[in-house]
Amino acid sequence: MAAETKYQGVFPGMVTKIIASYVSHHNVAPEQIPDLINSVHRTINSLGKPAEPQAGTLTPAVPLRRSVQRDAVICLDCGWKGKMLRRHLSTRHGLTGEQYLKRWGLPSDHPLTAPTYSQQRSTLAKELGLGRGGRQTAAAPASDAPRPRRGRPRGSRTAARAV
Ligand SMILES: [Zn+2]
Repeated sequence: MAAETKYQGVFPGMVTKIIASYVSHHNVAPEQIPDLINSVHRTINSLGKPAEPQAGTLTPAVPLRRSVQRDAVICLDCGWKGKMLRRHLSTRHGLTGEQYLKRWGLPSDHPLTAPTYSQQRSTLAKELGLGRGGRQTAAAPASDAPRPRRGRPRGSRTAARAV
């Protein structure tokens, strides 16, 4: 028997055998055969290959699009729901916001604070005569804003200064 040449990693003879066997046991219309060959070829070709690693092999506790709601953010790790994720991440998971975003492949502007909560704080700040010039709005990318070193929400410091 002559050595078979592989076609795209698959021995054509193997595909032929499978098709021939399939066709002899099933009623297959001639126009279906090309599809059949394709599908058998693809299947054989994918055998023995490791499954491609997915970007996120982690399974989020909630679907990503549901993790940010109007008045709450949800932790993808455990499903915790609250207004501010940052503190939860550090106390419960030992993660910084940045590590969390990276872990889940999220953009740096992914909100870690509930949108309405950020809004309330920014409204409050404006009422207190702070925050003119519109900085630190909810939409501003977090990476540009200076961050408090640890835990304490920026608002409490701002409020303390205003008193
Ligand atoms: Zn969590």
